[in-house]
Amino acid sequence: MCGIVGYIGHRKAYKVLMKGLHRLEYRGYDSAGIALMKENGTLNVYKSKGKVADLEAKATGQEVDGTIGIAHTRWATHGEPNEKNAHPQVSESGRIALVHNGTIENYAVLKKALAQHGYVFSSDTDTEVLVQLIDYIQTTNGCRLIDAIKEALKQVEGAYAIAVMERGNPNTLIAARKSSPLVIGIGNGETFIASDVTPIVGYTDKVIYLNDNEIAEITRPSYLKIQSLESGENSKLNIQTLRMSVEQLEKGGYETFMLKEIFEQPYTLRDCMRGRITDNGRRVVLSGVLENRERFLQAHRIVIVACGTSWHAGLIGKRIIQELCCLPVEVEYASEFCYGHPQITDRDIVIALSQSGETADTLSAVQLARSKGAFVYGICNVVGASIPRNTDSGTYIHVGPEIGVASTKAFTGQVTVLTLLALCVARAGNDYRRYGL
Ligand code: GLU
Repeated sequence: MCGIVGYIGHRKAYKVLMKGLHRLEYRGYDSAGIALMKENGTLNVYKSKGKVADLEAKATGQEVDGTIGIAHTRWATHGEPNEKNAHPQVSESGRIALVHNGTIENYAVLKKALAQHGYVFSSDTDTEVLVQLIDYIQTTNGCRLIDAIKEALKQVEGAYAIAVMERGNPNTLIAARKSSPLVIGIGNGETFIASDVTPIVGYTDKVIYLNDNEIAEITRPSYLKIQSLESGENSKLNIQTLRMSVEQLEKGGYETFMLKEIFEQPYTLRDCMRGRITDNGRRVVLSGVLENRERFLQAHRIVIVACGTSWHAGLIGKRIIQELCCLPVEVEYASEFCYGHPQITDRDIVIALSQSGETADTLSAVQLARSKGAFVYGICNVVGASIPRNTDSGTYIHVGPEIGVASTKAFTGQVTVLTLLALCVARAGNDYRRYGL
């Protein structure tokens, strides 16, 4: 989950938002974007793959007026990192702009339903589905933006922190959250929204941390209403004083990226498992496995190929898969794999583990295994990287960007996905033996 900044007030939003995006860069990201609204209600949206500096270059010489806006740094979970998938995502009508951190689990069903109503999609993201859904609800019900958002969020399963703006309404900004952090900074006649406090520091020390299932309506000059999405009741504004200085900003207050990533693990593991265990906690649903049940059930053996820390995650995975699935598992160092005349057949499943999805030796092992007819399954972090593009199926670990050289959260994410995979395959095998399903 990456970064969100929003602003409504008396300053030039462009400057505040760009500064905020720079401050969020420590989180790592793959693309960035900004939407600004002029006083007359016109929306201008700029997006770019790569760095915030690339976005700035893109916006140079363009219309960047306005004292209200939203901006985003993206870490792709649905759709590769490119300009069209970057946020803000704008509804097809061009009326609503939205930035989103998190994942919409039921996006495919919603997308299908919206397509049946004639909506055309221009990105591969789950986020675009949400913005189109809000547009659809508002158009059909003729309601206010906030009511359309509330209704849309009732239909959405997953995790989100969002900030939303509506063309022609330069006085309102809406924010909401579920399982993904969002904080509101309260200044003098100005209000800030951000996914963590770093973009707000230096402007104001008065903040409100939005709770899960809350929605905030911010109206010019400084009216703020927070409501529960569940009960509809107004929440008490719990204003806290921020104790972070501009000097402490880098790396979210931690001394090193590695420390930051170690402490992120409770959240990243939740992100990794989210939507993959049924509500009653009894079944693991890994679509990459279930869609290829036959291959897994007929496999003679699993070979895990990886390098470095991923190889160590593979060693743990081997124990778990062997115990739960009663299948022989071998773990190979990817750089040695190609030279050892590997005896791979079409009854083998090869699992390629790589954080970046670009590890050259692991990619070569994938290509060799496929040429021998094996079914190749990728477990990676970076969406759209070479390994996920070259495998038959797979699962992303969804732990966000890992910048520290010594792997921490990606390692625990890999072990988690290997465990989910073992549980999913074991259950499928059990069902088959018992019920012939
Ligand atoms: N799921 C969204 C996407 O892939 C948001 C990713 C994020 O949290 O940056 O566009």
